[in-house]
Amino acid sequence: MEDYNWNPWHGCHKVSPGCQHCYVYRGDARYQRDSTVVRRTESFNLPLRKKRDGSWRIPAGSMVWTCFTSDFLVADADDWRDAAWEMMRRRSDLNFLFITKRVERLPASLPADWGSGYANVCICCTIENQQMADQRLPIFREIPAHWKGIACEPLLEALDLRPYLGAWVRALIAGGESGPQARICDFDWVLSLRQQCMAAGVPFRFKQTGALLRKDGRIYHIERRLQHAQARKANIDFQPAENTDRKDGGDGRNA
Ligand code: SF4
Repeated sequence: MEDYNWNPWHGCHKVSPGCQHCYVYRGDARYQRDSTVVRRTESFNLPLRKKRDGSWRIPAGSMVWTCFTSDFLVADADDWRDAAWEMMRRRSDLNFLFITKRVERLPASLPADWGSGYANVCICCTIENQQMADQRLPIFREIPAHWKGIACEPLLEALDLRPYLGAWVRALIAGGESGPQARICDFDWVLSLRQQCMAAGVPFRFKQTGALLRKDGRIYHIERRLQHAQARKANIDFQPAENTDRKDGGDGRNA
């Protein structure tokens, strides 16, 4: 089944160190667009669009990467979010996944009928350093959701996530930073996360190396097109025997 991107709004505000070289800002800069202006996009109602023959534009069973040119929980979108939740509720035949750096806004942003979470909505919390982990994960852990994951991306330092990891974390991904001003990702930080995931029985994926990877004291410059492949080559992903989830926190983008 194909994957789809759904960006109901575009633009964001930087909230933490991981945002420093945000790819949304990089992309907008090429067109002299102001990324801090958050606007509804023309594909706002994409999940409900139909083809001429009456079938859904996004077919049942698809994975829909949601809001990757903004943050789903950015305050500027508060007036539009209920309609977005409603589309997710109506398209219960699709799987939606969004990544956020604003989990503290999630409890007040959930729809009235959320309950223990919509079965087709996956939420990923991004953390990039220990401070953000200590701020965001205690909040995220308590929020009801059908599927929750953690994205350590761009990974900016060694993290101790042992106080937080447990069965509630359905997947953890790690990755470096891309772009011309990328900060270094150290392979030892990645291996440490892997070790912590293995100890806690949490699926782990090294998604991409980033542009600068330090390994055994040497810094490797890795072209964008090779960053995912190089991470795969490391062959360090971990999957507990009974877990077959495929959700993984996106395809190289950060939010
Ligand atoms: S899109 Fe994500 S990385 Fe970019 S500014 Fe917003 S929260 Fe930060």
